[in-house]
Amino acid sequence: MNLKALYKISYGLYIITSRKGDLINGQIANTVFQISNEPATIAVSINKKNLTHEFIKESKLLAVSVLAMDAPLSLIGHFGFKSGREADKFEGINYQLGDSGLPHVTSDTLAYLEARVFQEADAGTHTIFIAEITGAEVLKEGAPLTYAYYQEVKRGSVPKTAPSFVPEPKEKAVLEKYECSICGYVYDPELGDPENGVEPGTPFEALPDSWVCPVCGVDKTAFKLQ
Ligand code: FE
Repeated sequence: MNLKALYKISYGLYIITSRKGDLINGQIANTVFQISNEPATIAVSINKKNLTHEFIKESKLLAVSVLAMDAPLSLIGHFGFKSGREADKFEGINYQLGDSGLPHVTSDTLAYLEARVFQEADAGTHTIFIAEITGAEVLKEGAPLTYAYYQEVKRGSVPKTAPSFVPEPKEKAVLEKYECSICGYVYDPELGDPENGVEPGTPFEALPDSWVCPVCGVDKTAFKLQ
């Protein structure tokens, strides 16, 4: 069995937000899809361990910000690899509050949806929230970020709590690739980190000390030989 077959399923990438009273939170998810048109209904799968899950359970409200193709890894890392239990994830982020008091990220996104949950399905580690859309707006035109583009082109990593996480058996590295011990991002010297000004062919050792993990923001010392 090759679970990489799952990578052939197409997804987008979204910031799912919710609130609990005045507290707001958000996280990255790839599992959003439209179920029906009349009324307009979507399903969103969220890990039960996540703070956003707790907020959606309580408020029955969720919003979806659709990420643009050129959204930086740092934004995805910010919402994907940090917990709202430790920090306010919206500090320093451009967002607006919608009619239901839910935050919509306004930078590097194309559109948002607001929805009210009317059904939940227990899916083991995750809950699938089924929600009727109560508000929606297109913020700008452009191509949405797809999960495949994130993984293959941006070489983004996946937190262990994501539904799409597939544990990979460690194989002997032929090239000197280094892996972030916090988020799992792999620095491949052949590819460099052009988004942050590092040319392809730059060995890990030659990265400046100011270089940080493009996904989660930790410095070089958190990397280990893969
Ligand atoms: Fe990292």
